[in-house]
Amino acid sequence: MKDSLIARLATLLLALFAAAGVLAEPLEKAAVEAALDAAYAKYKSLQEGANADYIPALAKVDSTIYGIALVTPDGTVYTKGDVESEVSIQSISKVFTMTLVMDEQGPGAIYNNMGVDATGQVFNSIVAVEQYKGAEMNPLVNAGAIAATSMVAGGSREEIWARILDYYSAFAGRELKVNREVFDSEAATNQRNQAIAQLMYAYGRIKDDPARATDIYTEQCSVNVNARDLAVMAATLANGGRNPLTGKQVMQEENVPEVLAVMATAGLYDDSGKWLYATGLPAKSGVGGGIIAVSPGRFGIAVISPPLDSAGNSVRAQKAIADISNALGGNPYEVIPQQ
Ligand code: GLN
Repeated sequence: MKDSLIARLATLLLALFAAAGVLAEPLEKAAVEAALDAAYAKYKSLQEGANADYIPALAKVDSTIYGIALVTPDGTVYTKGDVESEVSIQSISKVFTMTLVMDEQGPGAIYNNMGVDATGQVFNSIVAVEQYKGAEMNPLVNAGAIAATSMVAGGSREEIWARILDYYSAFAGRELKVNREVFDSEAATNQRNQAIAQLMYAYGRIKDDPARATDIYTEQCSVNVNARDLAVMAATLANGGRNPLTGKQVMQEENVPEVLAVMATAGLYDDSGKWLYATGLPAKSGVGGGIIAVSPGRFGIAVISPPLDSAGNSVRAQKAIADISNALGGNPYEVIPQQ
């Protein structure tokens, strides 16, 4: 009698834990450190890929920067290599502007305006815009991202910009700053993005002032981050929108699943399918050389290494994150069969 009561209580507790998503084994400190060490060493001398050079300032960034950071929901920070050097966040910013718009207007605003589907095209494709008149894409390619920036609330440019930078900073848990050299360099060479924004305006997906939206978007891409910042941002998403270091709920918890779904669909551009196949992780890359990835409830991870492959994704970052996550059982699709 007493035994069966205990058994029933245990089952109930397990069900409660499972519902709360805390059933996964906690990560062992030694296992995380070993995984970071191994991936760091394995890819340190890899000589593949090249810095982005279509934004002149990015070509000058030290291509040997290589840092790995992993943060767990309890706020433990693991690092390996260079986690101090900063690079521009570039397209990783798209995740957080999309999230800001969802917080302000609900996920339907993104879904209805630019969609949440993979384009199968490069990140700055004009063909993808033309195909469905600015719909049927997503906020993680340039057209959808510039449109998302145009949707951020605020009267003046200053007000909108302050809102964006504060929001990113809350995710990182420190005050982030813009890399002026990168901003000026991209602002002087972003004619293609200006054209994309005009086209989105022509199709009514950007309601007003496409030039201003492109300029703010360019500035958001120029925010400087190090690998540790990016890992904290990723861990905030892994932790239901609560920053594990500051304890602050920085986004609406109910929007996390939609944000992660868009990342899974389109985070690594036209290579998103290959990435998901290899890792199962929602992720986002930037041409500055960073990638963030999220194992929901388990960890956020980031790697910075500027040399990119032909799709615009950091070569080392992809390899290191895949190895580390797979070593730690980070793939959310990996389940142990029950009896
Ligand atoms: N600022 C870059 C651009 O718009 C971002 C691209 C990227 O990181 N893939 O071209």
